[in-house]
Amino acid sequence: MTVQTLKEQVLQGQPISRKEAEWLASQPDKKALYEAAHEISRTLASEEFDMCSIINAKSGRCPENCQWCAQSSHYKTQAEVYDLVDQEECLRHALHNEAQGVARFSLVTSGRKPSTKNMEKLCEAVRHIRRHSSIQLCASLGLLDEAQMRALHEAGVTRYHCNLETAPSYFAQLCSTHTQEEKLRTLQAARNVGMDVCSGGIIGMGESMEQRIEFAFTLRELRVQSIPINLLCPIPGTPLEGQAPLTEEEILTTIALFRFINPTAFLRFAGGRSQLSKQAVKQALYIGINSAIVGDLLTTLGSKVSEDKVLIEEAGYHFSDSQFDREHLWHPYTSTTNPLPVYKVKRAEGATITLESGETLVEGMSSWWCAVHGYNHPVLNRAAEEQLGKMSHVMFGGLTHDPAIELGQLLLPLVPPSMQKIFYADSGSVAVEVALKMAVQYWYGRGKSQKSNFVTIRSGYHGDTWNAMSVCDPVTGMHSLFGSSLPVRYFAPQPRSRFGGAWDEQDTAELRKLVEAHHEELAALILEPIVQGAGGMWFYHPQYLREAAKICREYGLLLIFDEIATGFGRTGKLFAWEHAGVEPDIMCIGKAITGGYMTLSAILTSNEVADTISNHAPEVFMHGPTFMGNPLACAVACASVKLLTSPEYDWQGKVERISRQLQEELEPARDLPQVADVRVLGAIGVIETRKPVDMAWMQKRFVEEGIWVRPFGKLVYLMPPFIIAPEQLTKLTKGVMRVIK
Ligand SMILES: *Cc1c(COP(=O)(O)O)cnc(C)c1O
Repeated sequence: MTVQTLKEQVLQGQPISRKEAEWLASQPDKKALYEAAHEISRTLASEEFDMCSIINAKSGRCPENCQWCAQSSHYKTQAEVYDLVDQEECLRHALHNEAQGVARFSLVTSGRKPSTKNMEKLCEAVRHIRRHSSIQLCASLGLLDEAQMRALHEAGVTRYHCNLETAPSYFAQLCSTHTQEEKLRTLQAARNVGMDVCSGGIIGMGESMEQRIEFAFTLRELRVQSIPINLLCPIPGTPLEGQAPLTEEEILTTIALFRFINPTAFLRFAGGRSQLSKQAVKQALYIGINSAIVGDLLTTLGSKVSEDKVLIEEAGYHFSDSQFDREHLWHPYTSTTNPLPVYKVKRAEGATITLESGETLVEGMSSWWCAVHGYNHPVLNRAAEEQLGKMSHVMFGGLTHDPAIELGQLLLPLVPPSMQKIFYADSGSVAVEVALKMAVQYWYGRGKSQKSNFVTIRSGYHGDTWNAMSVCDPVTGMHSLFGSSLPVRYFAPQPRSRFGGAWDEQDTAELRKLVEAHHEELAALILEPIVQGAGGMWFYHPQYLREAAKICREYGLLLIFDEIATGFGRTGKLFAWEHAGVEPDIMCIGKAITGGYMTLSAILTSNEVADTISNHAPEVFMHGPTFMGNPLACAVACASVKLLTSPEYDWQGKVERISRQLQEELEPARDLPQVADVRVLGAIGVIETRKPVDMAWMQKRFVEEGIWVRPFGKLVYLMPPFIIAPEQLTKLTKGVMRVIK
């Protein structure tokens, strides 16, 4: 065992044990320990320094007997005594801190917990601050129950603070009026109502190093991500008044161990740090302190915010306003209480994204299939600007316009010849809803209203709205929890015959059985042709589509192709149906239709489907979104489609080049033991790993490599903009290879 091997272990996501932590603490070579903790901090913890601030909103006269505390009425101390301060005073402090760039502000009160009256006043103060400031609000009000937590949360507090203070084995020696279990219940109550929690304690109260380690492990088990670390200030009059201070080495060792044990947490400098020399503060920041309680209006903490900021920036941290984002903005498929990190983008240009922090990343995702021409494209910019000067939107009910007409004229020659009618919608999911409704209304028109259900294939993805969700894979489709409230569809197995591999005739056998058994209630088969996207990044054999189309014809089912991801050249054909030469009855397109500029989708269908709907009561198709045919979106779509299909652009040449390069540069991954499969089709390259990847960790590593790649599950994949330069693509593939290794 060495410090190095334990560090490597943590970096690879394997926690160390208590014994190992104790061994680390006993090592005489402190420099090696500090260096190792520093590396863990730099790799796994936030480099954005998190500053928070507090107001002592009520001070003194506390009935509890915590031996370290100036506010306990059991001891005779010099602490100020005052009842709840008014809301204007709270707001004044909040605004002052906000103006200094401090992200959070906490209301702190003495006592076991506030009276009912004070609780109401505190909630009112929170609402008052919320109305006049956007600083994030925390509270530390003692041992609240769930109802009180809910009231605070509703008022606007997003994080609750309750220190465990010290190791479970030591707490009872320092306080007998309440237990740590009560604190744990408090933290749980906060979590139950959806608040984030903050919990740490005080070191130097006579506990042993083993107990500090025990304490750090307790916090880890609780998954606390914000850990205040106070250094005891012995208060005259309290039982701990004569406690000898820890040496700086003991303090720094403790911080290093907290970092080893809680590698991703915010370790927050709190009270008592003014005892440290400036040199020791710098070392603490280096080792792993990446947050602090700061404040000009507080006397116990010592330094001014502006001075703290200088030290913090010297230590290599930066500040950001991403806190508001963390607190209020919901990102796709994330938690609000424990969100994955997000990176703030300053601008995007060609195949690159530039972050606020200054790094420029090569774009490997085309912003989820959309930005095929890259960002800030002069042609698309011009189209948007020109259309803006005319009108950005008019309703499509009773009105029409050039961009809608021109886009239709551009699209029809590109899609299967049987597609003759176009319905514009505003997103992919809505396009899928519309397609499903069309199929049902078609059969209604044919007098077969019992044909209203759908069959699809497993591992599909069709969007996040209600019925789109019902045809996503029930497991990988990320929607399983909605199970019982969703319409129940029929699922055939995922096609197993690979694209480019041998065709196995058995592949459609289950689909045939299902359709045979249920065709009387089935309106349509919906699937993503050739490439299954978000449900598994799987490429399957074109023969599957030919057989599936045959089955649909035999049993009277419509065939719906969801080409929202595959459209506009991504798979090496303009649309994926061309790989099989099979025409659907209804087709959905979206994503790249505007080159990633605006949200727009379209549903195309045959005269047969459209006319059947229109010639039978109610004689109209029952759908009409507000932003249908949005002129601005249609105008950019026209420009994007024209650009893509112009001879000079040579999209096919571009996609072929990307395809070859992906093939060559990703192929070596196949030999890695952690890789299960490598596959490339068109401008899509996929590495499938054997075990699910840690998205947050990997994302961070990719950003360090200067690339933007967003893996999910076991899939790391690239679908770069078509305009990417070969060197940029190499940067992407090299970065991916390095991180996977
Ligand atoms: C992205 C996607 C959708 C959903 O589109 P949104 O614009 O996100 O609603 C539907 N089907 C497929 C195949 C997709 O890739």
